[in-house]
Amino acid sequence: MSTSKIGFIGLGNMGAPMAANLAKAGHTVTGFDVAGTTAEGVGVAPDLQTAVTGMDVVITMLPNGSILRQVAAQAIPYMAAGTLFIDCSTVDVESAKNTSEAAENEDILAIDAPVSGGIGGAAGGTLTFMAGGSDAAFAKAKPLFDIMGQKAVHCGAAGSGQAAKICNNMILGVTMIATCEAFALADKLGLDRQKMFDVVSTSSGYSWSMNAYCPAPGIGPKSPADNGYEPGFAAELMLKDLGLSQQAAEMANADTPMGELARALYAQFVEDEGGKGKDFSAMLPRFEGRNRG
Ligand code: NAD
Repeated sequence: MSTSKIGFIGLGNMGAPMAANLAKAGHTVTGFDVAGTTAEGVGVAPDLQTAVTGMDVVITMLPNGSILRQVAAQAIPYMAAGTLFIDCSTVDVESAKNTSEAAENEDILAIDAPVSGGIGGAAGGTLTFMAGGSDAAFAKAKPLFDIMGQKAVHCGAAGSGQAAKICNNMILGVTMIATCEAFALADKLGLDRQKMFDVVSTSSGYSWSMNAYCPAPGIGPKSPADNGYEPGFAAELMLKDLGLSQQAAEMANADTPMGELARALYAQFVEDEGGKGKDFSAMLPRFEGRNRG
């Protein structure tokens, strides 16, 4: 394997372990984070300019689209033509397209590649990448995706990685709510939770939320429900992704009533009902404590 000089911007919960895995695989990784965070095996740059100058590859893992646009505007002038720019943050489709365009105008190969798999996937190198960009950019990025993850799907042109991510998470938010409200209904009907799981997980109501991430403690495979609803995937991150899906639906003039309902419910949960900092499956105890109307 040839080794690359990689600049990694944003060494947070996800970025730090991803950068550490690239360094462990033999790449020379230089990191920069405004919070001064570091990662194992990763050199520290004093500023953004130093972290991107002379690099073969620049990777960003940032909180949102406006920060991505700001970082890209500052970084692109220091990146040579032919550099590969991979953004792994989850951002709005417009910011992803805008960033790709700004990079490609300078002959930089750009790809939007949001991930699923969470902090555990980042640490274990088992993330899934959903990538949008040219064939050439994807081919160049693929060996790095293979280090940080177990699967990379080339979804299409710039922005389509983000599109795949927010459509997936819209389904996830909706099915988690449906699974939780069905458990709460089953409780009130006197149905044993284990029996509910045994039936639904092998019937047409099954889903990843029920089968792989069951929101009921002690039922199904181990999940955040078995750990006091410690995240996992925090409710506020689900709210972020549901907001992005509604923003995209607005832009594309798509009718997404269930996605909007899920967004509104997670907003209520996170902002008014103490859901912040809890796993997104903590919707179940929320429903348990409520009555109709
Ligand atoms: P985080 O807040 O832990 O990390 C983001 C980092 O970016 C922070 O350390 C912050 O200091 C840094 N940063 C902010 N502005 C910067 C700037 N201008 N220059 C350099 N660094 C800057 O967030 P995270 O959990 O690591 O998530 C990163 C991205 O991955 C988000 O877009 C999130 O939606 C997405 N994501 C997170 C998860 C998860 O489970 N945490 C899962 C999938 C996707």
